[in-house]
Amino acid sequence: MTEKLPLIPYPSGAVAMLGGTFSKPSRLVIALDPSFDAECVLLYVREQLGMEAQEGGQSPDLIITAAADATEEQAYRLEVNPKECRIEAKTLQGVFYAVQTLRQLLLVYPNAVPCCRIEDKPALLWRAFMLDVARSFCPVEEGKRIIDILASFKMNVLHLHLSDDQGWRIASESYPKLGEEESGRYSKQEIKDLVAYAQARHIMVIPEIDMPGHFTAALASYPKLSCTGGPFTIPTGEGIFSDILCVGKDEALSFVKQIIEETASLFPAPYIHLGGDEIPLDRWVDCPDCQKRKRVLRLSDEKALLRWFLNEMTSYARGLGKQVILYNDYVDEGYDKKIITQVWNPLLDASALTHPVIMSDYFHTYLDMDHTLLPLPVVYRYGKQLQTQKYSSLYGAEFMLWTEYIATREERDFHLFPRLIAGAESFWTRHEQHDYRRFMHTFAKHGSAYLSSDAQITPKKQWNTSSIVSAFARYKRRRRVKRNSRKAGITLS
Ligand SMILES: [Zn+2]
Repeated sequence: MTEKLPLIPYPSGAVAMLGGTFSKPSRLVIALDPSFDAECVLLYVREQLGMEAQEGGQSPDLIITAAADATEEQAYRLEVNPKECRIEAKTLQGVFYAVQTLRQLLLVYPNAVPCCRIEDKPALLWRAFMLDVARSFCPVEEGKRIIDILASFKMNVLHLHLSDDQGWRIASESYPKLGEEESGRYSKQEIKDLVAYAQARHIMVIPEIDMPGHFTAALASYPKLSCTGGPFTIPTGEGIFSDILCVGKDEALSFVKQIIEETASLFPAPYIHLGGDEIPLDRWVDCPDCQKRKRVLRLSDEKALLRWFLNEMTSYARGLGKQVILYNDYVDEGYDKKIITQVWNPLLDASALTHPVIMSDYFHTYLDMDHTLLPLPVVYRYGKQLQTQKYSSLYGAEFMLWTEYIATREERDFHLFPRLIAGAESFWTRHEQHDYRRFMHTFAKHGSAYLSSDAQITPKKQWNTSSIVSAFARYKRRRRVKRNSRKAGITLS
């Protein structure tokens, strides 16, 4: 058996070894198809490969052409031969992924890259990671480090959970008290900076403002937006809290519309996540304003009022050019058909849903779970499950990190690595090419180099369940030996 190329994620298509090696030049001369932005490509080479580069010149080392036959936006071909490297792609994103593959090859073989031809494209087009910055704030510099890591493993969406009971993390011009007294919030400029950084690495940042539940932090700053008038204190720890937005008050509706507008203008992604999960409706039952709204709209109950509210906000966001994502909790046939449902509930039959779905069921994707509850092989299997299941419309898949109990960078890293990296491969690589042992082997050897920072990886004994498997195999072998020897009348010590 020949050794497989040590790539994470492993390519989806054909990988051929050609014989011979390519020597890394001291300065890379690039011949570039004019349809690609030269400045971007030079930046990829400098930042991702850590090499000096120039466009144009005699005998190029890297030839980048526009793929004539490729229809897929994210696909690429990479050929390494003794004379040069060749990249073919339809888009800059495809070029970026080819450069990421080349980066891993150059890290493992810095002086002589084995010649090869790789055809690659993602199995899932939307490969996302959700970071809960509401419960534990994540400073911009740390956010950039996470973006770098996501990009290294060809993930392409970062979902920021910006508001919750425990925190409001984005500054507002119209409502300056939001998040003012908390342990951290992003200024407009910081968001722009973070989004641009992600964009340059082909990662789309999607903002989430959770409503009308998970709203205590906003109510603590503006108690008038609640049913009771407060006062409220920002809770710590986890939980579902009774005080939610009062949809009976016009002032509260103007508030959320204003926030949606500010958020929409700050994030260029054509999506906005409005949460819509875990909403206790008791306050609405006792609130004269909510009851009046229900009567005027001739709605049967509070669930219908909730549906009305979320549909209203969905069409408001659509007017701003944004498609809305909601968690699966309440979305049913009565909800706007264009809403994308993010399915966290593993008991829900997502294949039967008519809304487009993003899959992130907690049995497979909640990385805040302990490694023993969500072990590495289970994470790795998830991509295959998604790729082989029939959905009416699978939009994408997402790993989640809730942070009620995860505050520091070390704690984050402990939960993320290597599970997030296994997840990235399971989303990108076609399931026919999935091979957990190959992944483990490559990660154990090169994972820390590929993570490209001082990321802290969970000690292997906590995630490597193969040690349990081999211990079990040893145990079975010994029992068989004992049984056979007993039959033969031999006594083993
Ligand atoms: Zn109310």
